[in-house]
Amino acid sequence: MPVETIPAKHASLGNFRFIVNLTDPVFRGVHRGRRKHEDDFEAMLERSRAAGVKSMVITGGSLKESKQALELAKKYGLFATAGCHPTRSTEFDKYHGGPEAYLDALDKLIEENMKGNGRVVAVGECGLDYDRTHFASEDVQKEHFRSQLALAKKHHLPLFLHSRAAHADFVEILREAGFGEDGGRALGAKGGVVHSFTGSVEEVIEYQDMGFHVSVNGCSMKTEDNLKAAAAIRPDKILFETDAPWCSMTSTHASKTRLDSLPNSLRSLYLPPATQPERFVLGKAVKGRNEPMAIGAVAWVIHRLNEGIPFEKVTEKAWKNTIELFQLEELELGTQ
Ligand SMILES: [Zn+2]
Repeated sequence: MPVETIPAKHASLGNFRFIVNLTDPVFRGVHRGRRKHEDDFEAMLERSRAAGVKSMVITGGSLKESKQALELAKKYGLFATAGCHPTRSTEFDKYHGGPEAYLDALDKLIEENMKGNGRVVAVGECGLDYDRTHFASEDVQKEHFRSQLALAKKHHLPLFLHSRAAHADFVEILREAGFGEDGGRALGAKGGVVHSFTGSVEEVIEYQDMGFHVSVNGCSMKTEDNLKAAAAIRPDKILFETDAPWCSMTSTHASKTRLDSLPNSLRSLYLPPATQPERFVLGKAVKGRNEPMAIGAVAWVIHRLNEGIPFEKVTEKAWKNTIELFQLEELELGTQ
């Protein structure tokens, strides 16, 4: 069936789950530390609902941010991750009481928020980022990546993983900690997802062989090589995300040619016209800020890379994978 003939009503009802950084002040009108417009958090959520977003996972990038993510998740009936991003990993050492106390605090936060609405569904984001060692050295990043892996085993939670220009060390640390096979399930862990993936086809294959999922967003589809790697992700291992407010797709990205076929009925939901922050209008998308509603556009590009598979099939599979990985059975049953 040519994609353009999918009834817009049907296609727009895709079930999506997003990985988002909703704690970012940009959703409150503060761009790069300056207030540019009023708080439009609720309007942003409304736009995402109209675009078929049924729920979201809010990422915690530090102890403090994980607490904020949990507060938002509880308030809006969403889910959160708890952990410390590699670029923030010096926080472990600066923490009063030292690194052990920081890890204990994360452990306690997870322990206290394991049940019901607004719960922790993954440990992270954690990992390695060698593109940004000015924030934390490779050694500091490695040490605190290792220590967080124990939390995933202890609480039987999947990992929410970040890896940039660090593949060899990243995989070595995971393997050493017992995550090399079936995502560490023999040790009580629950696999995980390598998010915002920008690596090679070989890396996709390695992660999948280790039992991990791979998640794509706008940053994962900037070049033709990116697209080749994205197309190599198996249907049972793929997740979609926006990483909002980061990783918007732009007209200079390789994804653009695949987005050209996005029907207007869906474009108006996923990529509606945006205004400059200075010309803010409540209810309109804001330039320079990615939003959860754009997940449908990510899914569309993946659909175009997998010739012949209907858009609904692509979104449905990613939705199922998400429910399974993060153990969100209530969404499958429709009780939430
Ligand atoms: Zn990340």
